[in-house]
Parts: sequence; C-alpha cells; structure tokens
Amino acid sequence: MSTAVSAERRAILRSLSEFCEAEIRPHVLAWDEAQEFPRDVFRKLGQLGFLGVLVPEKYGGAALSYMDYQAIVEEIASVDPAVALALAAHNSLGSGHIAQFGSEAQRQKYLPRLTSGEWLAAWGLTEADAGSDSSGTKTTAVRDGESWVLNGSKNFITNASVGRVAVLMAVTDRERGNKGISAFIVELDHPGIRVGKKENKLGMRASDTCTLVMEDCRVPAGNLLGQPGSGWVDSMKVLDGGRISIAALSVGLARGAYEAALAYSRDRRQFGKPICEFEAIQFYLAEMATGIDAARLLTERAAAAKDAGEPVTKLSAQAKLFASEMAVHVTDRAIQIHGGYGFTKDYPVEKFYRDVKLCTIGEGTSEIQKLVIARQLLGGA
Ligand SMILES: Cc1cc2nc3c(=O)[nH]c(=O)nc-3n(C[C@H](O)[C@H](O)[C@H](O)COP(=O)(O)OP(=O)(O)OC[C@H]3O[C@@H](n4cnc5c(N)ncnc54)[C@H](O)[C@@H]3O)c2cc1C
Repeated sequence: MSTAVSAERRAILRSLSEFCEAEIRPHVLAWDEAQEFPRDVFRKLGQLGFLGVLVPEKYGGAALSYMDYQAIVEEIASVDPAVALALAAHNSLGSGHIAQFGSEAQRQKYLPRLTSGEWLAAWGLTEADAGSDSSGTKTTAVRDGESWVLNGSKNFITNASVGRVAVLMAVTDRERGNKGISAFIVELDHPGIRVGKKENKLGMRASDTCTLVMEDCRVPAGNLLGQPGSGWVDSMKVLDGGRISIAALSVGLARGAYEAALAYSRDRRQFGKPICEFEAIQFYLAEMATGIDAARLLTERAAAAKDAGEPVTKLSAQAKLFASEMAVHVTDRAIQIHGGYGFTKDYPVEKFYRDVKLCTIGEGTSEIQKLVIARQLLGGA
C-alpha cells in the first residue's frame, strides 16, 4: 500500500495549515476557557470546502477521499482538537449519514447547506441509558398520518446547539430490537426539539456538547432516513468511517503535543545544557515519534481500505484503539518533558493533555473497540 502524499493533498494541507495558523491557533486557549464554539471559523471552513470533504461535487462537496479526509482531520487536530472534533462530527457523522443513506431528495435538500457551512450537522445515538450499549435506545418515533412523532432525549451530542440539523436514532418497532431502530433527519429549529444541558467539559471545550430533548417532536414522514428499522445498522456503518476520523484526530493531537515538547526540549536548559541532550528525554521523544507514525500508518490503512470499498470495521476500530491510547501516552510524556511549565496554561501541552481523553471514549470507548476487533477476529457478527 502506498502512503505517498499526492501533490493535490499536499497543496490542500499547506493551505489548511496556513488557515489554522492564522485563524485558529491565536484563539485556541481563549475559546477553550470560555467554552466558545468558533462559528465564524466554521463559516470559513465551509467556504474552503472542509465541511463537505467526502460529499460528491453535485451536492456542493469537495469529493475528496478518506485518505485526504484523515490527513485534513490530523492537520486541524494538531492545532485545536476541539475544532477537529466538531468538523469530524459534521463531516463523517451528521452529513456522512445523510450522504450514505439519504434519498436523492434528502441529499439535495440538506447536503448543499451542510457542505457550504451555512448549516452544521449533529448526530445522535447516545442516550442516558444507551451509551456503549446503543441498542438500548429509548427514544421513540411513532407514525401519525404523514408525520413521525419523536419523544426522548439524546446525550453528549456534538454540535447540538450550534447545528441546524441532526440525524437522530429512535425506536420505531420495540419488538425487533436493534432492527427496530430507525434514523430521522430533524431540523433543530423545529417545534418539539430543544437543547437541554450544555456539558461543562474536561477538554474539547470549544466543541459544543449538549443534550437534545424531544417532546412530541413531529417531523414529516419524508424525514425518515434510510429504511425503517435500518437506523442502528446504518449507524454502525457510519461509525466505521467515523472512527477513522477519531484515529486521525488522535494522531494530530499527539503530533501537536510532540512538536511542542520537541521544541521545548531544545530551548529548556538544565545542568548547563538543553534537556534534549539528556538520554531520558531523547528516549521519550523517540517513543513519541514512533507511536505517532505507527498510529498514522494504521489510520491510513483503514482510510485506504475505506476508499477501496473494502470492509473497515476491524481496521477502523484497530486504528482508533491504538491511536487514541497512543495519544494519551504521548500527551502525558509531553507534559513530563515540560516539567512544571507543562502543568500551566502558558504552554499548549496542558490543553492537549485534557482534550486527548475524549479520543478513548467518543465513537466507542477503547473497551468497545476491543470487543469490535475481537468479534471480527472470531468471525462473529
Ligand atoms: C465530548 C463528547 C462528545 C460526544 N459526541 C457524541 C455525538 O455527537 N453523538 C453521540 O451519539 N454520542 C456522542 N458522545 C457519546 C459517546 O459516544 C459515549 O460517551 C460513549 O459511547 C460511551 O458511552 P457512555 O458515556 O454511556 O459510557 P458507558 O457505556 O456507561 O461506559 C462506561 C464504562 O464501561 C465500559 N463498558 C461498557 N460496556 C462494556 C462492555 N460490554 N465490556 C467492557 N466494558 C464496557 C466502557 O468502556 C466505559 O469504560 C460524545 C461523548 C463525549 C464525552
């Protein structure tokens, strides 16, 4: 498998890097402290094509590959993982679900607004009692004439209060278990749906995370997304792709922390020399760089398989598991290399250390990734 970077991808990454330096890096800490979602940045990301990365051109998308997408998420995460998280939820979850499973009418109605950045997308599977076990979904959707009426709530939804549309999973046939869960497109200014609790988070604070509450939320029958009862199965396929983006996010986050630690180790002097001349620090740097490269290779392997239309359930879970745990380790080492200064907000590694924990939790915890991988190894469903 070739992992050579194409000239086109290199050009995209160069302009994205310039954008991140100018529009994101100067504000990272302020957004984090205020838990402020940078809406203007997302408008500009939309204009630049980064909110429709995987969507076909006929719906206004950039029609890039998963290999391009993972590189884009890595680049943004190396500067601000919270921005990368919101972008990933929009691209691969909300918009991705509509692009993959929507009818032609649904794609035409929603995707141009989402790819342009006019609207942001959210995606809701998780509930209070349905986290790792998402088949425990309690939200219901009942058919009433030409409408579906939704009741229930969704927890921890990225982009919930800044998004204009969400893809939400709800039970349409309780008897059928997982096969009785359907997906719905719900516009978030619609009567009957409201934003509930906004989470006050450890990290990823510039990313918006809220509860969505549905009380007799009536949506047109045409907003059923995919086949009735296919919502959970389709969600698992959406997550197969989404996990590649969380793996890429982990790689970028780790790279950001590593680059900061490498630069610091050259500047900081103790015992009359830069600390990078101590073998202990060199070993840390060597392990960090090797972990990042290994995780990127796993991420690229999963992305290449996705582009080739091959099954990615195991590959994306392996990439996400390895990359997220690697990133936790790398950010820990990055703080250690900074000594006491790493424990302060004067250096970027403090924020990477807080942000990283989400990577081992969101889109399936590390324990769930191991279950997914083991099931594939043992030939289960
Ligand atoms: C910042 C943030 C953003 C998020 N964004 C979204 C979003 O946009 N949309 C969405 O739908 N969800 C979102 N989530 C939810 C996320 O996907 C869930 O938090 C995650 O799947 C875990 O579910 P839980 O929190 O209920 O933990 P639980 O399922 O309660 O797990 C608790 C612990 O038990 C372990 N565990 C559970 N079951 C098993 C098992 N069978 N074997 C071994 N260990 C097990 C878990 O690994 C974990 O360590 C987000 C979460 C966060 C924090």
